[in-house]
Amino acid sequence: MQQLITQLLAELGEDPTREGLADTPKRVERALRFLTSGYDTDVDEVLNGALFAVDYSEMVIVKDIDFYSLCEHHLLPFFGKCHVAYLPRHQVIGLSKIPRLVEMFSRRLQLQERLTNQIAGTILDKVSPHGVAVVMEATHLCMAMRGVEKQNSVAVTSAMLGGFRDHAQTRMEFLELIRRRPLGAAASVVAAGASVEE
Ligand SMILES: [Zn+2]
Repeated sequence: MQQLITQLLAELGEDPTREGLADTPKRVERALRFLTSGYDTDVDEVLNGALFAVDYSEMVIVKDIDFYSLCEHHLLPFFGKCHVAYLPRHQVIGLSKIPRLVEMFSRRLQLQERLTNQIAGTILDKVSPHGVAVVMEATHLCMAMRGVEKQNSVAVTSAMLGGFRDHAQTRMEFLELIRRRPLGAAASVVAAGASVEE
């Protein structure tokens, strides 16, 4: 890979042998390997059996999860916040596992739409809840750095499955809860007083 990056630098009109670029191929390779390390991880490894049987059926929300991904069309970053909610049926998933799932799928070459669907689909598949909702808000550098008018635009994608798709009230409650910004911007967990609708 380092050879390719050296070649790329030359193609860009640079002198790959100048001092400042001497270690760049090595650094770029390391950075790219890290930013795409989600390919080396699978869902079961991340979840590691962290599913717990509980008698809890209220909405569980983990919001403001920071994520960083690379757009597959330009290999440029897109990043922002991800909000995840689900309605437990017979089991819950360890709360720390949700940001890790987001991270695993983010660290691949992605489209924001697919990333959103993969997170929602995986939780539906593995946790078998009554419903799953995922909203992602992101800034795309391929838009912000190249365009003039799109610098401050944010792309929002959502996936609503099960109860979140079928019941407007449940969906509205989720959207209302993620709109409230906490004082600290760190990921936070909200246990809502929502009742599960069959
Ligand atoms: Zn792009």
